Amino acid sequence: MSNNRQADLIVRHIDWLITVDPKRRIIRDAALVIQDGKFAAIGKTDEIERSWQSAKVVDAHGSVVTPGFVDNHLHASFQMSRGLADEANAQSFLYDHMYPYEAANTEEDVFVSSSFAALELLRHGVTCFVDPGNYHPDATVKAVMATGLRMNVACSCFDQTKSVMGLLPASMIESTEKCLEKTEAMFERYLGKHKGKLSVSASFRGLNNATDALILGLKGIANKHNSFLQTHACFSYSTHDSSVSQHKLPEIERLEKLGVLDENTLLVHSGWLEPQEVAMLAKRKPTLVCSPSSSMHNGYGYINVGMHPELMALGVNVSLGSDHACSGVVDIVQEMRMCACGYKEARINPRVMPPEQALEMATLGGAKGVGMLDRIGSIELGKEADFVLFDATVPEWQPLYNPVSNLVYGATGNTVKHVWIAGEQVLRDGKLTKVDHDEIMRQVGITSQRIAGRLDMKKVVKLLWPVE
Ligand SMILES: [Zn+2]
Repeated sequence: MSNNRQADLIVRHIDWLITVDPKRRIIRDAALVIQDGKFAAIGKTDEIERSWQSAKVVDAHGSVVTPGFVDNHLHASFQMSRGLADEANAQSFLYDHMYPYEAANTEEDVFVSSSFAALELLRHGVTCFVDPGNYHPDATVKAVMATGLRMNVACSCFDQTKSVMGLLPASMIESTEKCLEKTEAMFERYLGKHKGKLSVSASFRGLNNATDALILGLKGIANKHNSFLQTHACFSYSTHDSSVSQHKLPEIERLEKLGVLDENTLLVHSGWLEPQEVAMLAKRKPTLVCSPSSSMHNGYGYINVGMHPELMALGVNVSLGSDHACSGVVDIVQEMRMCACGYKEARINPRVMPPEQALEMATLGGAKGVGMLDRIGSIELGKEADFVLFDATVPEWQPLYNPVSNLVYGATGNTVKHVWIAGEQVLRDGKLTKVDHDEIMRQVGITSQRIAGRLDMKKVVKLLWPVE
Protein backbone atom coordinates (compact mmCIF):
# COMPACT_ATOMS: atom_id res chain seq x y z
CA MET A 1 0.00 0.00 0.00
CA SER A 2 1.44 3.31 -1.11
CA ASN A 3 1.57 6.37 1.15
CA ASN A 4 1.18 8.60 -1.86
CA ARG A 5 -1.51 11.28 -1.78
CA GLN A 6 -4.59 10.61 -3.91
CA ALA A 7 -5.38 13.06 -6.70
CA ASP A 8 -8.51 13.42 -8.84
CA LEU A 9 -6.36 13.55 -11.99
CA ILE A 10 -2.71 13.41 -12.98
CA VAL A 11 -1.54 14.53 -16.43
CA ARG A 12 2.03 13.32 -16.85
CA HIS A 13 4.89 13.24 -19.36
CA ILE A 14 3.92 16.62 -20.81
CA ASP A 15 6.77 17.39 -23.22
CA TRP A 16 6.63 21.15 -22.69
CA LEU A 17 4.53 22.78 -19.92
CA ILE A 18 4.24 26.53 -20.43
CA THR A 19 3.03 27.75 -17.02
CA VAL A 20 2.89 31.57 -17.51
CA ASP A 21 3.45 31.64 -13.71
CA PRO A 22 5.22 34.61 -12.02
CA LYS A 23 8.63 33.16 -13.01
CA ARG A 24 7.32 32.20 -16.47
CA ARG A 25 8.66 28.64 -15.98
CA ILE A 26 8.61 26.21 -18.89
CA ILE A 27 8.94 22.62 -17.57
CA ARG A 28 10.08 19.63 -19.67
CA ASP A 29 8.60 16.17 -18.97
CA ALA A 30 6.13 17.83 -16.63
CA ALA A 31 3.13 16.60 -14.66
CA LEU A 32 0.05 18.35 -13.30
CA VAL A 33 -1.91 17.17 -10.27
CA ILE A 34 -5.55 18.24 -10.04
CA GLN A 35 -7.52 18.08 -6.82
CA ASP A 36 -10.99 19.62 -6.25
CA GLY A 37 -10.77 21.42 -9.60
CA LYS A 38 -7.50 23.17 -8.76
CA PHE A 39 -3.81 22.67 -9.43
CA ALA A 40 -2.51 20.77 -6.37
CA ALA A 41 1.02 20.09 -7.66
CA ILE A 42 3.09 21.14 -10.68
CA GLY A 43 6.53 19.73 -11.48
CA LYS A 44 8.67 17.12 -13.20
CA THR A 45 6.87 13.82 -13.79
CA ASP A 46 9.33 11.74 -11.75
CA GLU A 47 9.04 14.09 -8.74
CA ILE A 48 5.25 14.22 -8.89
CA GLU A 49 4.96 10.44 -9.13
CA ARG A 50 7.01 10.02 -5.96
CA SER A 51 4.29 11.68 -3.90
CA TRP A 52 0.98 11.47 -5.83
CA GLN A 53 -1.19 8.83 -7.40
CA SER A 54 -4.61 8.79 -9.05
CA ALA A 55 -7.09 6.40 -10.58
CA LYS A 56 -7.24 8.82 -13.51
CA VAL A 57 -3.93 9.34 -15.30
CA VAL A 58 -3.44 10.91 -18.74
CA ASP A 59 -0.17 10.35 -20.58
CA ALA A 60 0.75 13.45 -22.53
CA HIS A 61 3.77 12.41 -24.59
CA GLY A 62 4.20 14.63 -27.65
CA SER A 63 2.23 17.52 -26.19
CA VAL A 64 2.58 21.17 -25.29
CA VAL A 65 0.34 22.29 -22.42
CA THR A 66 -0.63 25.92 -21.77
CA PRO A 67 -3.08 27.70 -19.46
CA GLY A 68 -6.61 28.00 -20.87
CA PHE A 69 -6.94 31.10 -23.04
CA VAL A 70 -9.24 34.00 -22.20
CA ASP A 71 -11.04 35.68 -25.11
CA ASN A 72 -12.11 39.07 -23.83
CA HIS A 73 -14.52 39.86 -26.64
CA LEU A 74 -16.70 37.50 -28.64
CA HIS A 75 -20.28 38.02 -29.80
CA ALA A 76 -21.72 34.54 -29.29
CA SER A 77 -24.87 35.61 -31.13
CA PHE A 78 -22.88 36.47 -34.31
CA GLN A 79 -21.45 32.99 -34.80
CA MET A 80 -23.88 32.31 -37.66
CA SER A 81 -22.77 35.44 -39.58
CA ARG A 82 -19.58 34.13 -41.20
CA GLY A 83 -19.53 35.48 -44.78
CA LEU A 84 -22.42 37.89 -44.27
CA ALA A 85 -20.43 41.14 -43.91
CA ASP A 86 -17.41 41.13 -46.18
CA GLU A 87 -15.71 44.12 -47.77
CA ALA A 88 -17.78 46.55 -45.71
CA ASN A 89 -16.55 49.76 -44.10
CA ALA A 90 -17.41 50.41 -40.44
CA GLN A 91 -20.68 52.16 -41.22
CA SER A 92 -21.93 49.58 -43.71
CA PHE A 93 -20.71 46.69 -41.55
CA LEU A 94 -22.79 47.85 -38.59
CA TYR A 95 -25.83 49.51 -40.13
CA ASP A 96 -26.34 47.51 -43.37
CA HIS A 97 -25.18 44.09 -42.17
CA MET A 98 -24.77 43.29 -38.48
CA TYR A 99 -27.49 45.31 -36.75
CA PRO A 100 -30.25 44.15 -39.17
CA TYR A 101 -28.92 40.56 -38.82
CA GLU A 102 -29.00 40.85 -35.03
CA ALA A 103 -32.46 42.44 -34.95
CA ALA A 104 -33.88 39.49 -36.95
CA ASN A 105 -32.36 36.78 -34.70
CA THR A 106 -34.84 34.66 -32.76
CA GLU A 107 -34.17 33.10 -29.39
CA GLU A 108 -33.65 29.76 -31.13
CA ASP A 109 -31.12 31.30 -33.55
CA VAL A 110 -29.19 32.78 -30.63
CA PHE A 111 -29.20 29.45 -28.78
CA VAL A 112 -27.71 27.61 -31.78
CA SER A 113 -25.28 30.45 -32.51
CA SER A 114 -24.10 30.47 -28.87
CA SER A 115 -23.66 26.67 -28.79
CA PHE A 116 -21.62 26.95 -31.98
CA ALA A 117 -19.56 29.81 -30.52
CA ALA A 118 -18.79 27.75 -27.41
CA LEU A 119 -17.82 24.81 -29.63
CA GLU A 120 -15.36 26.89 -31.64
CA LEU A 121 -13.93 28.63 -28.59
CA LEU A 122 -13.30 25.35 -26.76
CA ARG A 123 -12.04 23.71 -29.95
CA HIS A 124 -9.34 26.40 -30.05
CA GLY A 125 -8.38 26.34 -26.38
CA VAL A 126 -10.45 29.20 -24.96
CA THR A 127 -11.69 28.40 -21.46
CA CYS A 128 -13.31 31.75 -20.60
CA PHE A 129 -14.80 34.52 -22.73
CA VAL A 130 -16.58 37.85 -22.41
CA ASP A 131 -19.79 38.44 -24.39
CA PRO A 132 -20.80 42.08 -25.00
CA GLY A 133 -24.50 41.16 -24.90
CA ASN A 134 -27.38 40.42 -27.25
CA TYR A 135 -31.20 40.40 -27.07
CA HIS A 136 -31.58 36.79 -25.90
CA PRO A 137 -28.84 36.56 -23.25
CA ASP A 138 -30.57 33.77 -21.32
CA ALA A 139 -30.36 31.55 -24.43
CA THR A 140 -26.64 32.30 -24.62
CA VAL A 141 -26.10 31.45 -20.96
CA LYS A 142 -28.04 28.19 -21.30
CA ALA A 143 -26.12 27.14 -24.43
CA VAL A 144 -22.67 28.06 -23.13
CA MET A 145 -23.05 26.70 -19.59
CA ALA A 146 -24.05 23.31 -21.00
CA THR A 147 -20.61 22.98 -22.63
CA GLY A 148 -18.64 23.68 -19.43
CA LEU A 149 -17.07 26.88 -20.81
CA ARG A 150 -16.71 29.91 -18.52
CA MET A 151 -18.32 33.15 -19.61
CA ASN A 152 -19.06 36.71 -18.60
CA VAL A 153 -22.52 37.71 -19.77
CA ALA A 154 -24.06 41.15 -20.25
CA CYS A 155 -27.26 42.74 -21.56
CA SER A 156 -27.06 44.59 -24.86
CA CYS A 157 -27.81 48.27 -24.19
CA PHE A 158 -28.51 51.01 -26.74
CA ASP A 159 -30.66 54.02 -25.78
CA GLN A 160 -30.12 56.26 -28.84
CA THR A 161 -31.34 55.17 -32.23
CA LYS A 162 -29.50 57.79 -34.28
CA SER A 163 -25.82 58.44 -34.64
CA VAL A 164 -23.88 60.28 -37.34
CA MET A 165 -23.19 56.84 -38.83
CA GLY A 166 -26.81 55.75 -39.25
CA LEU A 167 -30.04 54.50 -37.70
CA LEU A 168 -30.25 51.41 -35.52
CA PRO A 169 -33.23 49.04 -35.96
CA ALA A 170 -35.98 50.34 -33.69
CA SER A 171 -36.35 46.97 -31.95
CA MET A 172 -32.84 47.28 -30.52
CA ILE A 173 -33.47 50.65 -28.85
CA GLU A 174 -34.75 50.80 -25.29
CA SER A 175 -35.19 53.63 -22.82
CA THR A 176 -32.29 54.40 -20.49
CA GLU A 177 -34.40 53.17 -17.55
CA LYS A 178 -35.21 49.87 -19.28
CA CYS A 179 -31.52 49.28 -20.07
CA LEU A 180 -30.53 49.91 -16.45
CA GLU A 181 -33.40 47.83 -15.10
CA LYS A 182 -32.64 44.77 -17.23
CA THR A 183 -28.91 45.00 -16.41
CA GLU A 184 -29.62 45.12 -12.68
CA ALA A 185 -32.04 42.19 -13.09
CA MET A 186 -29.37 40.16 -14.87
CA PHE A 187 -26.97 40.62 -11.96
CA GLU A 188 -29.71 39.55 -9.53
CA ARG A 189 -30.62 36.53 -11.69
CA TYR A 190 -27.16 35.11 -12.25
CA LEU A 191 -24.93 36.17 -9.36
CA GLY A 192 -23.48 33.11 -7.68
CA LYS A 193 -25.02 30.72 -10.22
CA HIS A 194 -23.30 27.97 -12.25
CA LYS A 195 -20.56 27.21 -9.69
CA GLY A 196 -18.34 30.16 -10.50
CA LYS A 197 -18.39 29.49 -14.26
CA LEU A 198 -20.63 32.47 -14.95
CA SER A 199 -20.05 36.14 -14.15
CA VAL A 200 -21.95 39.27 -15.16
CA SER A 201 -20.87 42.72 -16.36
CA ALA A 202 -22.59 45.93 -17.44
CA SER A 203 -22.37 46.76 -21.14
CA PHE A 204 -23.33 49.45 -23.60
CA ARG A 205 -22.52 48.46 -27.13
CA GLY A 206 -20.95 51.67 -28.41
CA LEU A 207 -20.48 55.30 -27.48
CA ASN A 208 -22.33 56.69 -30.48
CA ASN A 209 -25.67 55.15 -29.51
CA ALA A 210 -25.46 55.70 -25.75
CA THR A 211 -26.50 58.70 -23.65
CA ASP A 212 -24.35 59.99 -20.79
CA ALA A 213 -27.10 58.88 -18.40
CA LEU A 214 -26.88 55.29 -19.65
CA ILE A 215 -23.10 55.17 -19.36
CA LEU A 216 -23.14 56.64 -15.83
CA GLY A 217 -26.02 54.39 -14.72
CA LEU A 218 -24.33 51.22 -15.99
CA LYS A 219 -21.03 52.14 -14.33
CA GLY A 220 -22.94 52.58 -11.06
CA ILE A 221 -24.47 49.10 -11.39
CA ALA A 222 -21.07 47.55 -12.24
CA ASN A 223 -19.49 49.22 -9.20
CA LYS A 224 -22.31 48.11 -6.92
CA HIS A 225 -21.75 44.48 -7.93
CA ASN A 226 -17.94 44.68 -7.91
CA SER A 227 -17.90 44.04 -11.64
CA PHE A 228 -16.80 45.95 -14.74
CA LEU A 229 -18.27 48.14 -17.45
CA GLN A 230 -17.58 47.12 -21.05
CA THR A 231 -18.06 48.83 -24.40
CA HIS A 232 -16.69 49.09 -27.95
CA ALA A 233 -14.56 52.20 -28.41
CA CYS A 234 -12.43 53.73 -31.17
CA PHE A 235 -12.46 50.80 -33.58
CA SER A 236 -12.33 52.88 -36.73
CA TYR A 237 -11.89 56.45 -37.87
CA SER A 238 -15.67 56.59 -38.39
CA THR A 239 -16.59 55.86 -34.76
CA HIS A 240 -14.01 58.41 -33.66
CA ASP A 241 -15.31 61.00 -36.09
CA SER A 242 -18.94 60.32 -35.23
CA SER A 243 -18.18 60.93 -31.55
CA VAL A 244 -16.44 64.22 -32.28
CA SER A 245 -19.38 65.34 -34.45
CA GLN A 246 -22.07 64.36 -31.94
CA HIS A 247 -20.44 65.02 -28.61
CA LYS A 248 -17.63 67.42 -29.50
CA LEU A 249 -15.29 64.93 -27.85
CA PRO A 250 -13.50 61.79 -29.05
CA GLU A 251 -14.65 58.56 -27.39
CA ILE A 252 -12.03 58.05 -24.65
CA GLU A 253 -12.09 61.73 -23.70
CA ARG A 254 -15.85 61.52 -23.33
CA LEU A 255 -15.50 58.55 -20.96
CA GLU A 256 -12.82 60.39 -19.00
CA LYS A 257 -15.06 63.45 -18.67
CA LEU A 258 -17.87 61.21 -17.40
CA GLY A 259 -15.49 59.75 -14.78
CA VAL A 260 -16.04 56.11 -15.77
CA LEU A 261 -12.50 55.18 -16.81
CA ASP A 262 -10.75 52.99 -14.27
CA GLU A 263 -9.27 49.52 -13.88
CA ASN A 264 -12.80 48.07 -13.90
CA THR A 265 -13.52 49.25 -17.42
CA LEU A 266 -13.06 47.00 -20.46
CA LEU A 267 -12.62 48.90 -23.73
CA VAL A 268 -12.85 46.79 -26.84
CA HIS A 269 -10.54 47.92 -29.69
CA SER A 270 -9.24 51.38 -28.67
CA GLY A 271 -7.29 51.73 -31.89
CA TRP A 272 -8.02 55.30 -32.97
CA LEU A 273 -6.72 57.59 -30.22
CA GLU A 274 -5.85 61.24 -29.94
CA PRO A 275 -2.67 62.09 -27.99
CA GLN A 276 -4.53 63.26 -24.86
CA GLU A 277 -6.51 59.98 -24.92
CA VAL A 278 -3.29 57.97 -24.82
CA ALA A 279 -2.38 59.90 -21.65
CA MET A 280 -5.85 59.25 -20.16
CA LEU A 281 -5.60 55.50 -20.76
CA ALA A 282 -2.08 55.43 -19.30
CA LYS A 283 -3.38 57.20 -16.19
CA ARG A 284 -6.68 55.34 -15.63
CA LYS A 285 -5.51 51.90 -16.76
CA PRO A 286 -8.69 50.25 -18.06
CA THR A 287 -8.20 46.91 -19.82
CA LEU A 288 -8.09 47.24 -23.61
CA VAL A 289 -9.03 44.41 -25.97
CA CYS A 290 -7.08 44.18 -29.21
CA SER A 291 -8.94 42.23 -31.91
CA PRO A 292 -6.71 42.17 -34.97
CA SER A 293 -8.87 39.85 -37.10
CA SER A 294 -11.76 42.29 -36.80
CA SER A 295 -9.66 45.28 -37.88
CA MET A 296 -7.83 43.42 -40.65
CA HIS A 297 -10.97 41.89 -42.16
CA ASN A 298 -12.64 45.24 -42.77
CA GLY A 299 -9.52 47.39 -43.04
CA TYR A 300 -10.26 49.59 -40.01
CA GLY A 301 -6.55 50.39 -39.74
CA TYR A 302 -6.23 50.15 -36.00
CA ILE A 303 -3.14 47.99 -36.07
CA ASN A 304 -1.69 50.63 -38.36
CA VAL A 305 -2.43 53.57 -36.09
CA GLY A 306 -3.06 51.78 -32.77
CA MET A 307 -0.92 52.26 -29.67
CA HIS A 308 -1.38 48.92 -27.91
CA PRO A 309 2.37 48.09 -27.64
CA GLU A 310 3.17 51.57 -26.31
CA LEU A 311 0.25 51.47 -23.86
CA MET A 312 1.44 48.08 -22.58
CA ALA A 313 4.88 49.59 -21.99
CA LEU A 314 3.10 52.28 -19.97
CA GLY A 315 1.50 49.62 -17.75
CA VAL A 316 -1.92 49.34 -19.40
CA ASN A 317 -3.37 45.82 -19.53
CA VAL A 318 -4.14 44.76 -23.11
CA SER A 319 -5.91 41.46 -23.80
CA LEU A 320 -7.12 39.78 -26.99
CA GLY A 321 -10.56 39.19 -28.48
CA SER A 322 -11.74 37.38 -31.59
CA ASP A 323 -14.85 39.65 -31.83
CA HIS A 324 -17.07 37.73 -34.22
CA ALA A 325 -17.28 35.02 -36.84
CA CYS A 326 -18.13 37.57 -39.56
CA SER A 327 -14.43 38.40 -39.78
CA GLY A 328 -13.87 34.69 -40.47
CA VAL A 329 -11.64 33.64 -37.60
CA VAL A 330 -12.74 32.70 -34.08
CA ASP A 331 -9.38 31.39 -32.94
CA ILE A 332 -7.41 33.13 -30.21
CA VAL A 333 -4.22 31.32 -31.30
CA GLN A 334 -4.47 33.04 -34.68
CA GLU A 335 -5.30 36.35 -32.95
CA MET A 336 -1.98 36.09 -31.06
CA ARG A 337 -0.13 35.75 -34.33
CA MET A 338 -2.05 38.54 -36.06
CA CYS A 339 -1.45 40.91 -33.14
CA ALA A 340 2.29 40.19 -32.80
CA CYS A 341 2.97 40.11 -36.54
CA GLY A 342 0.57 42.95 -37.37
CA TYR A 343 2.32 45.33 -34.99
CA LYS A 344 5.79 44.23 -36.19
CA GLU A 345 4.72 44.95 -39.75
CA ALA A 346 3.04 48.26 -38.94
CA ARG A 347 6.06 49.46 -36.94
CA ILE A 348 8.62 47.90 -39.35
CA ASN A 349 10.27 46.51 -36.20
CA PRO A 350 10.58 42.81 -35.28
CA ARG A 351 11.20 43.70 -31.61
CA VAL A 352 7.84 45.39 -31.06
CA MET A 353 5.91 42.34 -29.76
CA PRO A 354 7.60 39.01 -28.96
CA PRO A 355 5.44 35.85 -28.86
CA GLU A 356 5.72 35.70 -25.06
CA GLN A 357 3.91 39.03 -24.85
CA ALA A 358 1.13 37.82 -27.17
CA LEU A 359 0.69 34.73 -24.98
CA GLU A 360 0.50 36.88 -21.83
CA MET A 361 -2.26 38.93 -23.51
CA ALA A 362 -4.26 35.75 -24.22
CA THR A 363 -3.87 34.40 -20.66
CA LEU A 364 -2.99 36.80 -17.82
CA GLY A 365 -4.24 39.86 -19.74
CA GLY A 366 -7.61 38.28 -20.38
CA ALA A 367 -7.94 36.99 -16.81
CA LYS A 368 -7.21 40.45 -15.41
CA GLY A 369 -9.72 42.07 -17.78
CA VAL A 370 -12.52 39.78 -16.64
CA GLY A 371 -11.56 40.29 -12.98
CA MET A 372 -10.42 36.69 -12.41
CA LEU A 373 -6.62 36.95 -12.24
CA ASP A 374 -6.60 35.34 -8.77
CA ARG A 375 -8.43 32.28 -10.17
CA ILE A 376 -7.34 31.68 -13.79
CA GLY A 377 -4.83 32.82 -16.47
CA SER A 378 -1.80 30.71 -15.48
CA ILE A 379 -0.82 27.26 -14.28
CA GLU A 380 -0.07 27.95 -10.62
CA LEU A 381 -0.72 26.11 -7.36
CA GLY A 382 -4.18 26.90 -6.02
CA LYS A 383 -5.51 28.35 -9.29
CA GLU A 384 -8.43 26.64 -11.02
CA ALA A 385 -7.29 23.87 -13.34
CA ASP A 386 -8.06 25.40 -16.76
CA PHE A 387 -5.51 24.08 -19.24
CA VAL A 388 -5.07 23.16 -22.89
CA LEU A 389 -3.17 20.26 -24.43
CA PHE A 390 -1.83 20.75 -27.96
CA ASP A 391 -0.82 17.82 -30.17
CA ALA A 392 2.75 18.88 -30.95
CA THR A 393 3.45 15.91 -33.21
CA VAL A 394 1.68 17.56 -36.17
CA PRO A 395 3.73 19.37 -38.87
CA GLU A 396 3.00 22.96 -37.80
CA TRP A 397 4.51 22.23 -34.37
CA GLN A 398 7.71 20.68 -35.74
CA PRO A 399 10.62 21.05 -35.34
CA LEU A 400 10.06 22.11 -31.77
CA TYR A 401 12.94 24.17 -30.35
CA ASN A 402 10.84 26.97 -28.81
CA PRO A 403 7.24 26.10 -27.90
CA VAL A 404 6.15 29.73 -27.39
CA SER A 405 7.42 30.66 -30.84
CA ASN A 406 5.73 27.63 -32.44
CA LEU A 407 2.46 28.36 -30.61
CA VAL A 408 2.23 31.97 -31.78
CA TYR A 409 3.91 31.83 -35.20
CA GLY A 410 3.27 28.27 -36.37
CA ALA A 411 0.22 26.70 -34.75
CA THR A 412 -3.49 27.36 -35.09
CA GLY A 413 -6.17 26.47 -32.59
CA ASN A 414 -6.99 23.41 -34.69
CA THR A 415 -4.01 21.66 -33.10
CA VAL A 416 -5.73 21.71 -29.68
CA LYS A 417 -6.47 18.14 -28.66
CA HIS A 418 -7.85 18.24 -25.10
CA VAL A 419 -9.15 21.00 -22.82
CA TRP A 420 -9.89 20.94 -19.09
CA ILE A 421 -11.83 23.55 -17.13
CA ALA A 422 -11.73 23.44 -13.31
CA GLY A 423 -10.21 20.00 -13.70
CA GLU A 424 -13.06 18.65 -15.82
CA GLN A 425 -12.30 17.53 -19.37
CA VAL A 426 -14.59 19.53 -21.67
CA LEU A 427 -12.85 18.71 -24.99
CA ARG A 428 -11.47 15.28 -25.88
CA ASP A 429 -9.72 14.64 -29.21
CA GLY A 430 -11.17 17.88 -30.59
CA LYS A 431 -14.78 17.14 -29.61
CA LEU A 432 -16.95 18.51 -26.82
CA THR A 433 -17.57 16.04 -24.00
CA LYS A 434 -20.56 17.49 -22.14
CA VAL A 435 -22.90 18.09 -25.08
CA ASP A 436 -23.48 16.41 -28.43
CA HIS A 437 -20.80 17.98 -30.66
CA ASP A 438 -22.18 16.53 -33.92
CA GLU A 439 -25.74 17.59 -33.08
CA ILE A 440 -24.56 21.21 -32.66
CA MET A 441 -23.00 21.07 -36.14
CA ARG A 442 -26.25 19.63 -37.52
CA GLN A 443 -28.21 22.49 -35.94
CA VAL A 444 -25.76 24.99 -37.46
CA GLY A 445 -26.66 23.64 -40.92
CA ILE A 446 -30.41 23.90 -40.28
CA THR A 447 -30.17 27.36 -38.73
CA SER A 448 -28.01 28.76 -41.55
CA GLN A 449 -30.74 27.74 -44.03
CA ARG A 450 -33.32 29.52 -41.88
CA ILE A 451 -31.19 32.69 -41.69
CA ALA A 452 -30.47 32.62 -45.44
CA GLY A 453 -34.19 32.30 -46.10
CA ARG A 454 -35.00 35.63 -44.49
CA LEU A 455 -32.04 37.67 -45.77
CA ASP A 456 -31.60 39.33 -49.12
CA MET A 457 -28.58 37.14 -49.81
CA LYS A 458 -27.61 38.93 -53.02
CA LYS A 459 -27.26 42.11 -51.01
CA VAL A 460 -25.37 40.81 -47.98
CA VAL A 461 -23.18 38.06 -49.47
CA LYS A 462 -20.38 39.35 -51.70
CA LEU A 463 -20.15 36.37 -54.05
CA LEU A 464 -18.38 37.83 -57.09
CA TRP A 465 -18.17 34.69 -59.18
CA PRO A 466 -21.08 32.85 -60.84
CA VAL A 467 -22.44 29.80 -59.04
CA GLU A 468 -23.84 27.10 -61.32
ZN1 LIG B 1 -17.51 43.51 -31.04
